[in-house]
Amino acid sequence: MSVTVNPRFMEELRPYGEFDVQGCYSCGHCTAICPLVQSGESFPRRVIRYAQLGIRERLASAKEVWSCYYCGKCSETCPRQATPGEFMDCARRYFIVHWDLTGLSRRLYTSPVFTAAFLGGLGLLFAVLFMVSGGRMDPRSFDLFRFIDVEWLHYTGIVVMSLVGLVLATNVVHMAMRLAEGLQRPPETSLRLLVLDAWLAIRDTLTELGLQRRFSECEPLSSEEVEPTYRSRRTIHLTIMWGFFGLFGATALDLLFKEPGSHVPLYYPARLLGTVSGALLLYGTMWALYLRYKHQGGPSFRRSYLSDWLLLGLLGGTTLTGFLVEIAVYLPRGFFLGYMIFLLHVILALELLLLLPFTKLSHAVYRPVALWIHAFWGRRFHRRSFRSLWASRAKGREG
Ligand code: SF4
Ligand code: SF4
Repeated sequence: MSVTVNPRFMEELRPYGEFDVQGCYSCGHCTAICPLVQSGESFPRRVIRYAQLGIRERLASAKEVWSCYYCGKCSETCPRQATPGEFMDCARRYFIVHWDLTGLSRRLYTSPVFTAAFLGGLGLLFAVLFMVSGGRMDPRSFDLFRFIDVEWLHYTGIVVMSLVGLVLATNVVHMAMRLAEGLQRPPETSLRLLVLDAWLAIRDTLTELGLQRRFSECEPLSSEEVEPTYRSRRTIHLTIMWGFFGLFGATALDLLFKEPGSHVPLYYPARLLGTVSGALLLYGTMWALYLRYKHQGGPSFRRSYLSDWLLLGLLGGTTLTGFLVEIAVYLPRGFFLGYMIFLLHVILALELLLLLPFTKLSHAVYRPVALWIHAFWGRRFHRRSFRSLWASRAKGREG
């Protein structure tokens, strides 16, 4: 692979985080302390070197950018205060923006004015669309689907999901191609082994991401910053992740099996899944917002960026208004505030979904893809080394 050196690369990274790796002299303290280092890795020293040299292609294909959980241990022990942990976090933000071909992520990550105007404009557009199609507020019963026409809601959801799928698929292909370009060409192998390695890599990736066991190895050095389990970074991250996927699943089940606009009891599977997932998501989001606001809970919560507030705001707003609507349904009479909360809930949910490829939420797709590619590549090289070892042993026996 030909490598392009970009002397201005550090400046390109600057808008996405505060770090100072210029002083790094490759002493290796960070590699020694990082709990995620496996034998043979020089995590995170190697990727800092790429950034210092301006080799973006190598940094783009580095696994470390996606496997770091930002515990900050490396930054606390660095003798040069080179903030390697902050650098890794910044690199993730930079690449989320870089993989998006539309350029919208860059604006949403760097300009609060643009972000506010964009969200406001989009919200207004959805509000007008729904009010034109429905808008009937029945004062005697709280009939949500006469207020927002159920057909319009249904088809808007399908259009939004299709757009998101298209943009996300394009960005992921872009990312996967760039990432694979920076990796060593793997050995040829049979189709059967290729499929087997791909499957084993999926299993490895899902096991790591589903439980995030390595997160628990990744606690801050200072015991004062270690949070109790109920509000540890791992618990918060797991509840947000499972809550989000649960809600996504409940929405998909609704679209597939439920008559649009029909009322179902609380124990109806899709509704039950949605309620439990919403509670998990709300729990994790509220703790994350609180700890970020208080600058507590470890280095990753001590300093927050626009992308953090945007995602947590959309997640928290969507789930909170969702629960308020659930409560309003059981109140004896329909009332103006209930309808307004429902409208806000629908707008926030659509914005959260529509902006998925352009916000921090996209890491829920990029991280698994990057880890899977590395796991797949790793398995193919491991198989080759195993074969060579086996062949040399057989030769030795024959000799
Ligand atoms: S980031 Fe700090 S600890 Fe790591 S290699 Fe550079 S100087 Fe050493
Ligand atoms: S922040 Fe933690 S996980 Fe990330 S490189 Fe530093 S020590 Fe390793």
